[in-house]
Amino acid sequence: MKNIIVLGVTGSIGDSVLSVIKQNKNKLNLLGITFNSNTAKAEDIINEFKLKNVYTESNQSHEFLKHTFENNYELNILRDKSELEELLNKDDVDIIVSAISGFAGLESTLMAAKTGKTILLANKESIVVAGDVILPLAKEHSTEIIPIDSEHNAIFQCLNSDKNTEDVSKIIITASGGPFLNKKISQLSKVTKKEALNHPNWEMGAKITIDSASLVNKCLELIEAKYLFNLNEKFFDLVVHPQSIIHSIVTYTDGSSICQMSNPDMRVPIAHALSLYDKRLSLNFSEIDFSSLKLTFEDIPEDRSELVNIARDICNLGGSSGTVFNAANEIAVQSFLEEQITFDKIYEVIYRTFDAIPMSKNIDVNTIYETDNQTRIEAKKVVKSIS
Ligand code: NAD
Ligand code: MG
Repeated sequence: MKNIIVLGVTGSIGDSVLSVIKQNKNKLNLLGITFNSNTAKAEDIINEFKLKNVYTESNQSHEFLKHTFENNYELNILRDKSELEELLNKDDVDIIVSAISGFAGLESTLMAAKTGKTILLANKESIVVAGDVILPLAKEHSTEIIPIDSEHNAIFQCLNSDKNTEDVSKIIITASGGPFLNKKISQLSKVTKKEALNHPNWEMGAKITIDSASLVNKCLELIEAKYLFNLNEKFFDLVVHPQSIIHSIVTYTDGSSICQMSNPDMRVPIAHALSLYDKRLSLNFSEIDFSSLKLTFEDIPEDRSELVNIARDICNLGGSSGTVFNAANEIAVQSFLEEQITFDKIYEVIYRTFDAIPMSKNIDVNTIYETDNQTRIEAKKVVKSIS
């Protein structure tokens, strides 16, 4: 039995993880969860899984839990961060799923990196901002980081569930292109929130759905891949593949290209990662209908190349550059979702903020938080100036 803690359980990745656990109850056990504000969903999960441990940072959610479960003596309602840290380090914990959205996921991912357990990583933002800190920390504590972002999990599977890239000549990361693939940035000033949130292939949380529509998600994934597979950005090509069937392709030095395929369903990479290094789990998946399958590939639209070039620069620069990019984007996305800026301005907020903040090469956790804070202030100024 593998015991699992899910950080950020009430989101879309959380749903997929719980679905895989439910289908494999004889092998997987949910031991603890964290969440932010969705108390109704957390309540259902606690009841359904007869949960023993729950943590929330939100005072409101904590009060709700205390009140709702006052007679449930089996449930540990953790109060502070040190108790969460203690839980993550317990002997019976095997796997920690990092599934909080955005920079908010950094703190608990850092905690998880120090446990010596296995992290299933969905929260790409923590690697983008703190890859230089998290990866050495994980190594020091023998913590294994397994990607569940579909592209990175695909790369990992194409590498035979290994991170040895000695014989690799190229890695192609596929991108669906999102709902605005055929539109130029200049045509995106009138698109609505509803249109931007309507991803053609994947059902995901709001932030990543907007990132997919802007292609920022692919930029974050390029940086994530550079860290997770410890390769220069030159090894990675980004290619639009609108069907989202091939999740990535690894080409070896002898000319063989290996890809991983499935219908777009996050439970597939999650099931793979949860099964490591045992037999594969069983999953009720929808089979690819190969007889009607048409797979197409195209270049990333030319007017998004400035964005991709920034991501490539970040791969080479390291330091605080990922934090600046990520914070500028988080403010831009939030401002779009709050209808303060139009969709096309997301790019402007990122570019102008990225130019305005000085980069530092040497970073630690404190400087990451400082840079994040400083960048958010700057990005809000940019938003104000254009809204
Ligand atoms: P989501 O918005 O659906 O869920 C986010 C979760 O994080 C919720 O449980 C929420 O309670 C929690 N959370 C948010 N802020 C928090 C805070 N301050 N403290 C504690 N918890 C907090 O997001 P999602 O789509 O599930 O994405 C989660 C992560 O996985 C993101 O980093 C995303 O990029 C990555 N990812 C998602 C998908 C997908 O299909 N949804 C695919 C690949 C990668
Ligand atoms: Mg992805």
